[in-house]
Amino acid sequence: MIPGLMQTTPLLVSGVLKYAATAHPRREIVSRAIEEPLWRYDYAGLAARAGQAAHALRRLGVASGDRVTSLAWNTHRHLELFYAAPGFGAVLHTANPRLSDDQLAYTINHAASRVLLFERNLLAQVERLAPRLERVTTYVMLASAAAHLPGAVDALCYETLIAGEPEGYDWPTLDENAGAFLCYTSGTTGDPKGVLYSHRAIVLHGMGAGLASAFGFTPFDVVMPCSSLYHATAWGLPFVAPICGAKLVLPGDRMDGASLHELIAQEGVTFTGGVPTIWTMYLAYLAETGQRAATLKRVMIGGSAVPRAMAETFKTRYGVETLQIWGMTETCPLGVVATPTPAIAALGEEEAQEIIWTRQGRLQFGVELKIVDEQGVECPWDGATPGALKVRGPWVVRRYFRQDADATDAEGWFDTGDIATIDANGFMRITDRTKDVIKSGGEWISSIDLENAAVGCPGVRIAAVVGVPHPKWEERPLLVIEAHEGHGVTKDAVLEFLSARVVKWWLPDDVLFDAVPLTSTGKIDKKVLRDRYRDRLAG
Ligand code: ADP
Repeated sequence: MIPGLMQTTPLLVSGVLKYAATAHPRREIVSRAIEEPLWRYDYAGLAARAGQAAHALRRLGVASGDRVTSLAWNTHRHLELFYAAPGFGAVLHTANPRLSDDQLAYTINHAASRVLLFERNLLAQVERLAPRLERVTTYVMLASAAAHLPGAVDALCYETLIAGEPEGYDWPTLDENAGAFLCYTSGTTGDPKGVLYSHRAIVLHGMGAGLASAFGFTPFDVVMPCSSLYHATAWGLPFVAPICGAKLVLPGDRMDGASLHELIAQEGVTFTGGVPTIWTMYLAYLAETGQRAATLKRVMIGGSAVPRAMAETFKTRYGVETLQIWGMTETCPLGVVATPTPAIAALGEEEAQEIIWTRQGRLQFGVELKIVDEQGVECPWDGATPGALKVRGPWVVRRYFRQDADATDAEGWFDTGDIATIDANGFMRITDRTKDVIKSGGEWISSIDLENAAVGCPGVRIAAVVGVPHPKWEERPLLVIEAHEGHGVTKDAVLEFLSARVVKWWLPDDVLFDAVPLTSTGKIDKKVLRDRYRDRLAG
């Protein structure tokens, strides 16, 4: 080998900000601040204020390598922290306000954060947490001046704090493998685990996600992240948008249909993304009010399987393309994205559309995939054989924060805990999570496929399928439905609808109408459902 002779410029988060502020200084950022008027500035303004925030954090004693925690929504001040803290070498731990107090205290203590910056409407939560936080010495409320601070927590005000600081920052040249963001998995089993994203992973992920094979933004796009900034950095959108020069619209903490529609129409949003529950609400809003989707062209959906009916409604009723993605906190989070290729276009319009609507996505440059059977032998990419999904690549976790052992095998493969098929064109389909698979008489039933079919039945808002113990078959599927108000959908109607769509032995043994519990990241909480209905089919 002889060494290459090109430059080794490190890939840094500050490089993204510098680029956007130089190449797209006047491209807008609009933010729905909490209990304040809409905030409007641009990438040059972001660079100026992120610099002020970095100076302020330094003045508070935060050093390179230290962790600071944000407890915040999709707002401009949160975005500023995304660049301020990692910019000088600190790590931003983006805590999820929807976690329980126990889990939040656990993650903030585990991160050993010294400063906690929080949104105005989360003050009560912070006051409850404060006595349990071992290392936090400084609290900062992300608000404009003169915030009234009742109660125990003596918090500084963000705007007052940064006001006297110089704009911009002479960002240091860091090691690109230094930690930049700390995100915890929601930990439906055991304690949450910390994934420490490096600068290199964030930048490579941002560049990869920007490709036309993935999100494919241009400077003409107007991007509104409805995935939370604290959930795997809003799927990288706060970096992909500036890398591509797109306008950013931050919806604050209001993700209801009316609030989203208002911003889409007013700001000319062309691209948005979030978990399916948000789009269920948005589509219901459009249907109820008889409105169109305004300027919206594409909606990225992931975090849970996209119901086929949702993708079809977006396209046929509103002319909006659905872009399904699959990923995990452990993968930054982009793993696969469902975008067309000549190979599937050649199958004809109808079949190509079906693939786009029903697959989680296709192999992307940067993330290797493989599926293996129970013996660890690789399964064929035939679109039919399911196996345990493993991933590898420069933006996939190697080891969890403060753990001694690697999270991967010796060859670097990370076991996702998902079961998937992959076809010859590299399109991957998740059939289940390992822990949600229903094993009936030794055969697998895909809870995701059943949910997907059931949610297409008129009147069904959310469909959840879990396996519950059964005296003869070991486990059988149970379908829990949250219906649209006043629709009057019945068990018989649902079963008849399903009979035409799934094989007979997959039909759920019972259909119940109940509220479907969601996790802190908006996914169906199957653990709660399994516990609730454990004895339902006990014979
Ligand atoms: P948590 O486990 O904390 O919910 P993540 O948000 O990282 O953490 O969730 C990752 C999991 O979400 C994946 O392993 C997969 O099971 C599920 N998931 C993500 N995207 C999709 C999708 N498009 N279809 C089906 N499941 C998905």
